[in-house]
Amino acid sequence: MAHPKILEVIEHDICTACGACVSTCPAGAIVMNKRAEIRDPENLDLYVKGAAPDVCEGCLTCGRLCPVIDGYVEDEFTNVKEFFGAKSNIEGQDGGVTSILAKALLESGTVDCIVGITRNDEWGTELILMTEPEDVDKTTGTKYTYDSVLSALKEPFEKYDKIGVIGVPCQAHGARLIFENASDKIVVIIGLLCMESFYHDVMTEKIVPEIMGLKLEDVVKMDFGKGKFWNYTKDGEAHSVKIPEIAHHARNPCHHCCDYTSVFADISLGSVGTPDGWNSVLIRTDVGKEVFELVKDKVEIMEDPKPGIDLIKKLTKMKHDNNAEHYLEVCEKFTFDECGIH
Ligand SMILES: Cc1cc2nc3c(=O)[nH]c(=O)nc-3n(C[C@H](O)[C@H](O)[C@H](O)COP(=O)(O)OP(=O)(O)OC[C@H]3O[C@@H](n4cnc5c(N)ncnc54)[C@H](O)[C@@H]3O)c2cc1C
Ligand code: SF4
Ligand code: SF4
Ligand code: SF4
Repeated sequence: MAHPKILEVIEHDICTACGACVSTCPAGAIVMNKRAEIRDPENLDLYVKGAAPDVCEGCLTCGRLCPVIDGYVEDEFTNVKEFFGAKSNIEGQDGGVTSILAKALLESGTVDCIVGITRNDEWGTELILMTEPEDVDKTTGTKYTYDSVLSALKEPFEKYDKIGVIGVPCQAHGARLIFENASDKIVVIIGLLCMESFYHDVMTEKIVPEIMGLKLEDVVKMDFGKGKFWNYTKDGEAHSVKIPEIAHHARNPCHHCCDYTSVFADISLGSVGTPDGWNSVLIRTDVGKEVFELVKDKVEIMEDPKPGIDLIKKLTKMKHDNNAEHYLEVCEKFTFDECGIH
């Protein structure tokens, strides 16, 4: 009877829900709820611990694609080839560089499609497969709730040859592991910086209404900055609470995660380290360098932004200091020993 390693990741509640296993399991036996679950594809109602090995074919693919099992790197900056600030003319979360890059990738035919996230007026998120440059407009803005981006790769793997991924560090990591172990169809990985994310019900039933005292439908933008969580409302007002008031509500896997800067991406994008309205850009691979060339003439560049990469390094250290111990404690309980911080 097979015992896929991801069962232990799931049972210890540190599955990031990246979706890498969902889109690549040949038996179609993994579905995504708040975390991955291995179920009988013929009977999706069935999920009890121990049912999983009955439907699993034992190919072990999922264990090779799981970022939690693969583990984290101690120094997130060794593969950074270039760091600078950039800003586009697209009204995005920060400098809109993610969106202008996505458009350029589709316009140039570098990719056939890109997976990303859109949202409705009540901040419900949906995975979206962008195939036309205009589709990118539906995805602008950060959603601090989590959606399983890599789960959306199942269909593109069947239909397309050149796929782009935009996602948070655990998703960039999962995408890299898919590329290395299962499908070279992923040609570009754009990673976002990420300190934490929240379950949808926690954000919409606790944080916004109870802690912020706001109506969800009035909120037009959410952001983290200057030590606070900000909600901007339709009436033009800015509301904030200090991050420690909400950070403990983040998803459990996020309290075990030791990747702040999307180490496994081709390009990492964030806001920290640059002035408001700009993106921090970390080019990590030759692919990252090539795809940034596509937009170089369309964006403003700030060669030496302030406060700069030192602030990103400081926050990376803070994330590792907060989470490494939690992660390593769980690793100790696993029956296998791949994971760790290398
Ligand atoms: C959960 C989360 C936490 C973050 N934490 C930090 C942080 O601590 N420090 C920092 O500097 N930056 C952080 N970021 C990144 C930052 O918020 C911006 O996404 C980034 O600067 C890119 O800005 P932009 O203007 O280029 O994005 P835009 O051009 O507006 O494009 C936004 C892109 O983000 C994608 N996206 C939106 N929400 C999600 C999501 N939940 N999961 C996956 N993809 C998503 C969309 O598909 C879209 O492609 C975080 C992002 C997320 C999603
Ligand atoms: S071992 Fe293979 S068949 Fe079993 S759940 Fe993992 S990917 Fe699916
Ligand atoms: S691959 Fe991703 S979704 Fe699957 S078990 Fe690992 S973390 Fe969870
Ligand atoms: S902190 Fe961000 S990258 Fe890490 S598990 Fe949570 S959502 Fe994924």
